Amino acid sequence: MEATIIGCMDRHRQELIDFAEDIYRHPEGGFCEYRTASRVKDLLEGLGLTVRSGLGRTGVCGTLSADGAKAASPHLTVIGELDGILCPRHPMADQKTGIAHACGHHLQLGVMLGAALALTDPAVRGRLCGRVSFLAVPAEEYVDAEKRRWLESEGVGFAGTGKAELIRLGVFDDTDIALTTHVHMVPVEEDFYLGNPACNGFSSELITVEGRAAHAAVNPWDGVNALSIAGSAYQMMGLMRETFKEEDHVRLHTLIREGGEALNCVPDRVVVESKVRAASLEAISGVRGKVTRAFEGAAYAFGGKIHREKLQGYLPVRCRLADTALKEAAQYLDGYTYREVTGDDFNNACTDVGDLTHLMPVVNFTYAGFAGGLHGEDFAVTDWDKALIAPAKLMALTVYGLLKENAAQARQVMESFQPVFTKEGYVEFVKKTIEN
Ligand SMILES: [Zn+2]
Repeated sequence: MEATIIGCMDRHRQELIDFAEDIYRHPEGGFCEYRTASRVKDLLEGLGLTVRSGLGRTGVCGTLSADGAKAASPHLTVIGELDGILCPRHPMADQKTGIAHACGHHLQLGVMLGAALALTDPAVRGRLCGRVSFLAVPAEEYVDAEKRRWLESEGVGFAGTGKAELIRLGVFDDTDIALTTHVHMVPVEEDFYLGNPACNGFSSELITVEGRAAHAAVNPWDGVNALSIAGSAYQMMGLMRETFKEEDHVRLHTLIREGGEALNCVPDRVVVESKVRAASLEAISGVRGKVTRAFEGAAYAFGGKIHREKLQGYLPVRCRLADTALKEAAQYLDGYTYREVTGDDFNNACTDVGDLTHLMPVVNFTYAGFAGGLHGEDFAVTDWDKALIAPAKLMALTVYGLLKENAAQARQVMESFQPVFTKEGYVEFVKKTIEN
C-alpha cells in the first residue's frame, strides 16, 4: 500500500509542481484568496470528494468518506493554507497588493492536494478506517488592524486568523486529529523535521496616542506632542527589555501606522500597532502590562491620553513530539534525512496552529527544499522534490498509517490527548481577549 501511495505521487509529480507554481504566481491576501480557493475547489471536486466552499469567506473543504460500512470516525483533517504575505519587494509579489508567497503556503497546498490524490486511489481508500478531509484555510498570516475592521464589517467574527474563524464557525467540530505542514520555520539541516516544537503566542493592540495640536513655531507650548509621547514610550520599552526572561522568549514589535500629518503642526495623534510575543499566556500578559505602563506613563508626563484597542492574537503552540505514524511513514522515504522535535526545541515565531493545538491533537512536520528567509524577498524553492513531492508522500503515508487497521494509531493519538479548551470555551476565551 505504501508503494502504491509513493507511486501515485511520482505519477502526478509534474501536475503538483504546476499547481504550486500557478498558486505562486497568483498570491492573494488573507480572507481574500478567491482565485486560490477556486483552484483548490476544482481539484478536490475532480477527485470526487464532497466539497464545501466559502467557509470563513474563502475556506474550502473536501471530504473523503470511508467506503461502505467502515466508520465515519476517526475524522482526520489535512490542512493547507491559502494566503500569501505582504512582501512587496519579493520578485513574485502581486503588483497591486504587494502580497507574495514568501512563506511557502503554495507548497503546503500542493502537499495537501498530493495527499488527496494518493488517498483517493481506490486501493488506498478501501483500506482507510475513518474519514479524511482536506481543508484549505484562509488567513494564516497576521491580519492588520485596519483590514480586520473591514473584515468585521463584512461579517467575519474572528478577523484575526482563519483557523480561529473556522473553529468559531464549527468547521473543526467533528475533526478528531488535524495534520499540518510548513517549510522549516527554525534552522534545521535535515530534509524533514518531525513533530511540532513549542512556539510563541502573541497579543496585539492598536494604541492611539492623543495629544493636542498647535502651531509648531508660533505656540508649540500650547500643544501636546503625541509623537513625543510615543517616542518616550519606545524609550521605556527599550529600557524594560532587561526585565524579559530568556525562557519566556519575548519578542516585542511595534509599527507606527500614523505619526502626525503637517510638519508645522504639533502632531496630536499617533497610532501604534503593537505585538507582544512570548512562550506562555502569563508571560504575554506580563509584558503587555509593561507596554501599557510605558505608554500611559509617557502620556501622563506630557499631558496626553492613550486609547487601547485589543486585537485578537494567536495562542502558543503546545509542543507535540513526532507521532509513531509519522516516524513510520518517514522510513518509506528513501534518501531523505530527518530529525525529530525534542521537548527543548522552540520556535520564536507564531502561527494560528497554536490555537488548534489547544483543542485537538495536531500532527505536524516541516520540510526543506527552499532558500532565503521566511517572509523575505529572497524566499524561493530550490528543490521541488524536497519542498513538495516528498512532503506530499509523507503526509499521505502518515494519514494512511493513522487510519489503517481499524485506525488503531489514530485512536491512540486521540485517547492520549488532553484538550485545554472545548470549542465553546475557546470561543468565549477569544471573545474575552478582544473585549474593549
Ligand atoms: Zn507560513
